[in-house]
Amino acid sequence: MAKRKSISQTIRFEVFKRDSFTCQYCGAKAPDVILEIDHINPVAKGGDNSIENLVTSCKDCNRGKSDKKLSDMSEIEKSRRQLEELQERKNMIDMIFQWKTTLHNQYDEASSRVNQILIEETGYSFSKFAQKKLKQSIKKFGLDIMIDALYIAIDQYYDNTEGSIDIICDKYIGIAYNLFYRENDPVKASIIYIRNTLSKNCTSFNTKAFYANFPDWYDIECKEHFLEVARGSSSMEEFFSIIKEEVPND
Ligand SMILES: [Zn+2]
Repeated sequence: MAKRKSISQTIRFEVFKRDSFTCQYCGAKAPDVILEIDHINPVAKGGDNSIENLVTSCKDCNRGKSDKKLSDMSEIEKSRRQLEELQERKNMIDMIFQWKTTLHNQYDEASSRVNQILIEETGYSFSKFAQKKLKQSIKKFGLDIMIDALYIAIDQYYDNTEGSIDIICDKYIGIAYNLFYRENDPVKASIIYIRNTLSKNCTSFNTKAFYANFPDWYDIECKEHFLEVARGSSSMEEFFSIIKEEVPND
């Protein structure tokens, strides 16, 4: 058996954080399971302790490969293992606590940066409630997108009144949503755009019916045309009857 060099606590923590304290083989999370560090390229085959070669694994997934069964061990060895496990579980909980605190502080910091932009641009600041929503949105979409979205909303809706701040708070998360999908999924983003345009123009819009009727042959090339039809339709029936006449026949 190849001699293992022990992995430092700092590296262990970095690997666990990178993998969100989740076993990369089976998806089990700490503290439900004890996590260990596994070498992707085994030490026996020349694998080293660099962070790229390390991965978070639960005990079962990791030990399944290399270790003796518990029943093969002496009673002393068993109780030593159990004590170790207890200590390991405690370490794990400490690490998770530290990790969550860091994450929490990161989101606090990020949201106060966005708030600072609002103050600089308008002189107003986010309400407690709006800050809570902002933090959730940063978790979902990332800080950069939230900053972009805020600038866009200020640009579009700010008119020196406090009332327009409410509108900005109301709109910029939707803008962030669109920015996020435009970056990650342009087709989906364009469908959302069409949906929003149509919902503004027609009297009895229904999201479920919209997606149920939306043609599966749609691609990004159709976007401008669909938008034009959406702007000119006063009902969902009208919209779908026009676009469904135009199934591409190639
Ligand atoms: Zn596992």
